[in-house]
Amino acid sequence: MIQLEALTKVFGDGPDATTVLDHLDFAVPSGQIAAVVGPSGAGKSTLAQCVTLLERPTSGRVVVNGDDLTAFGERDLRVARRRIGTIFQSDGLFARRTAAENVALPLQFLGVTAAESRARVAELLDRVGLAHKAGHYPHQLSGGQRQRIGIARALALRPSVLLSDEATSGLDPDSTATIVALLKELRDELGLSILFITHEMDTVVQIADTVARLDHGRIVESGRIVDLLRDASSLLGDQLRPARA
Ligand code: ADP
Ligand code: MG
Repeated sequence: MIQLEALTKVFGDGPDATTVLDHLDFAVPSGQIAAVVGPSGAGKSTLAQCVTLLERPTSGRVVVNGDDLTAFGERDLRVARRRIGTIFQSDGLFARRTAAENVALPLQFLGVTAAESRARVAELLDRVGLAHKAGHYPHQLSGGQRQRIGIARALALRPSVLLSDEATSGLDPDSTATIVALLKELRDELGLSILFITHEMDTVVQIADTVARLDHGRIVESGRIVDLLRDASSLLGDQLRPARA
């Protein structure tokens, strides 16, 4: 699971300093999908970058599976990051590599044998429902299919945590529904803990167990989706409800 404790990120210093995350407390419980929503500029991507320590927090702690990553040096961080799969709005696939070759990259990087890698890639492509696209290049796939290949690649090193920053943003409703179903399957079958960051409220209702609203670097409201939808006084519930009708 992921725990963020008093997480603070300040960019710049002196009079130009901008506090993007402000003593933020947040947790992704084990085996759940926790959404973070908020408008553009709220600090969502900065939050994602801080979880993998690609951005170093100014203060506070990032605890993943019990390890305080903020206390780790670069070498330990490289190992710890293997436990965190990441997917972004851009699928980040290499255009000159086939779907299978893209999925195999993290395995090659770790020196996994060719035979082992082939078996694992086949298993991963099957898991995302794209075994029949193994030899296709990214430009021969739809946006939703490319994103599923990105998910397969993110799963290659058997992470326990998946970090998704706007992974369904810009996809058509059918592709989004397929990704949503896939991520829920990964939660249910692999027990993955998923931090699902998005600005799209309707996707949140479809996918998340819990949701937190980020505004000016703070979590201003959070709870379980089912409770928020019932709570007439909840602003988040209000924003979630119309999309459901
Ligand atoms: P979101 O993903 O919610 O749209 P971001 O985390 O990308 O928001 O950005 C939040 C704020 O942090 C923005 O005002 C942005 O300009 C600022 N910001 C992000 N990265 C940097 C950086 N490297 N240096 C300075 N400011 C940054
Ligand atoms: Mg963003």
